[in-house]
Amino acid sequence: MEARECTRCAELAATRTSVVFGAGNADADLMFVGEAPGANEDLQGLPFVGAAGKLLEKLLGEIGLSRAEVFIANVLKCRPPGNRDPRPGEIDNCTPYLIRQVELVQPRVICTLGNFATKLLRGDPAGITRVHGRPEVRTIGAHTTRLYPIYHPAAALYTPRTMETLREDFLALPGVLGLPPPAPSPAFADAPVAVEAPEPAEPEPGAVAVPEQPEPEQLGLF
Ligand code: URA
Repeated sequence: MEARECTRCAELAATRTSVVFGAGNADADLMFVGEAPGANEDLQGLPFVGAAGKLLEKLLGEIGLSRAEVFIANVLKCRPPGNRDPRPGEIDNCTPYLIRQVELVQPRVICTLGNFATKLLRGDPAGITRVHGRPEVRTIGAHTTRLYPIYHPAAALYTPRTMETLREDFLALPGVLGLPPPAPSPAFADAPVAVEAPEPAEPEPGAVAVPEQPEPEQLGLF
C-alpha cells in the first residue's frame, strides 16, 4: 500500500515509527475518524490504542458494538511530533488516503471525532461545540454518507461535562445508524462548498432524538 512508504510530509515521515493507516471491519456500517496517531498508536501501528481508544471502546460497548465491528481511521496517518496539531499542508497531503478509505469501506455513518475530522469532512470551519450530535448528509469522494460529529474522546477524558455530552451523543448513534441510507448524490463539485451550519437546538436533558439537518446544500467536498 502506497501510504506505508509515504513521504509527502517530510517531517512526519522522518519522525514516525509507523504509518497508522486504520483498522477494523473494512465493510463496516460505522466509521470513526480521529485526528492523528499519538505515541502509542505510532509504536503499535494501530489507531486509538491508548487511553482515548479505551474510552472509545467502552462507549461502543455501551451501545452494543465492538471495536471489531467498526472501522477506525484518522485525518493524519502519521504522528505529529510531540502530539502537536496537524498542519494544514499535512491535512492536504493526507486527505486523499482518507477519501479512498471512505470509498472502500462505504460506511452508512461516519463519526468525526473532534474538530479536525469534523471541519475537514463537513467542509466548514464550524467547531465541534456547535455541530456535535447532529447528523448531516455529505458526499466524500464518490460516497454519500451521514456525518455524525461528536467530541474527541481525548477531550472527554479531562472534562466531565464533555464526557457527559459525548456519552449522550453516543447513545443517539444507534438511531443515526437506523436512518435510511442517504440518496447518492448524482454529481459532486470539484471545490469544497462551505455551508453555514444553523445554530444547534438545545437538547432536552437525556434526549436521544436525532434531529437531522436538511439534505445537503453541499453536493460534495472534493
Ligand atoms: N487520538 C486520535 O485522534 N487518534 C488516535 O489514533 C489516537 C488518539
